[in-house]
Amino acid sequence: AKQRGEAGFTRYVDGMGEPVLAHMQLGGELRRALDNDELRVVYQPIMRLEQQRMVGVEALVRWHHPVRGVVSPAEFIPAAERTGLIVPLGRFVLRETCRQAAAWLAEFGPDALEETGLNVSARQLHDPDFVSDVAAALADSGLPCERLILEVTESAVLRGQQVSRALYELDRMGIRLALDDFGTGESSLSLLRAFPASIVKLDKSFVDGIEIDDGQPAAAGARQAVARAVIQLAHALGLGTVAEGIENPEQVTVLRELGYTLGQGFHLAQPMTADGVSRLLAQQCAA
Ligand code: C2E
Ligand code: CA
Ligand code: CA
Ligand code: CA
Repeated sequence: AKQRGEAGFTRYVDGMGEPVLAHMQLGGELRRALDNDELRVVYQPIMRLEQQRMVGVEALVRWHHPVRGVVSPAEFIPAAERTGLIVPLGRFVLRETCRQAAAWLAEFGPDALEETGLNVSARQLHDPDFVSDVAAALADSGLPCERLILEVTESAVLRGQQVSRALYELDRMGIRLALDDFGTGESSLSLLRAFPASIVKLDKSFVDGIEIDDGQPAAAGARQAVARAVIQLAHALGLGTVAEGIENPEQVTVLRELGYTLGQGFHLAQPMTADGVSRLLAQQCAA
C-alpha cells in the first residue's frame, strides 16, 4: 500500500503493517543530506518547574530538505536506523552538540547551563567505535564529560552484550545516562537494576491528562499513578527525573505536587535554534 507521508515522502506499508519510507530513495537522500549540510540540531530547554528556569537542553535533529522543507526525525530516524546511516548521522549530532555546549559553557560560565542531552539509538550503541567517538567529541570540543547526558530508550538498552559494555564504559567515563520514554518499555523496573542510569525521563503518555480532575478522586488518582510510582522509585534509587511533554500549567502544578522538579514540553519551551538558547541564557544571566 502506498500513501503520502507527512513531509511529502511516499510511504509504503511493510509486511508488519508498519508505514516505512521508501528505503532506497530515503537512503540516498539522507546520504546526500549529510554531505550537503542539510541536517541541523535544535535544542529544547529542560526547565526547573519552580522558577521556570532553563537548567539544560536536549538536542534534537532536523533535516532541512531543499524541496520538502523541514523534515521531522520521526520521519527519517527509523529509516536511518534500518540503513545504518544513523551511525554517521548520530556522529554529526554528537560532534555538533558537544561543540555547541562547550561554546555556551565558555560564553556563559559553568552555572548557566548544567547539562546537554542527546539521543542515542540502539544501532549506535552496537557500533564498536561509539565509545571512542564520544571520547573524541568531548576531547575535541573541550566539553567536560559531566556536562553530557546520553538518552537511550529501554528497547535500545535491552539489545545485547556490546550495548551493555558500551553503557558501562560511558558510565565509567563520567557521562550520565538517561532512560528515555521511561515507563513505555516492557521491563522498566528490572532494567533499572541492571543498567547504570542516572536519570529517568517520564514519558509524555503519563503526563497527558494528568491534570484532568473528572470529579472522581479514584480516577484522578489512577491518572497520576504511574507518575507517582516513577518518582518514588527514582528517589529510592537516587535517580534524577525529567517529566516530558508538558503542555499546560495545570500539568506543572500536578507534577510539582508529585515531587517532580524538572520538566520539558511545549508549555515550558519549544525546541529552538542554538541562537535561541543563547538569547535565553543571556536573559537568565541578566536576571
Ligand atoms: P524524544 O527523544 O522523546 O524527544 C522528544 C520529542 O517530543 C521531540 O520530538 C520534541 O520536539 C517533542 N516534544 C517536546 N515537548 C513536547 C510537548 O509538549 N508535546 C508534544 N506533543 N511533543 C513534545 P522530535 O524532535 O520530533 O523528535 C522525535 C524523536 O526522534 C525523539 O523523541 C527521538 O526519539 C528521535 N530523535 C530526535 N533527534 C534525534 C537524534 O539526534 N538521534 C536519534 N537517535 N534520535 C533522535
Ligand atoms: Ca530524548
Ligand atoms: Ca522522550
Ligand atoms: Ca518519545
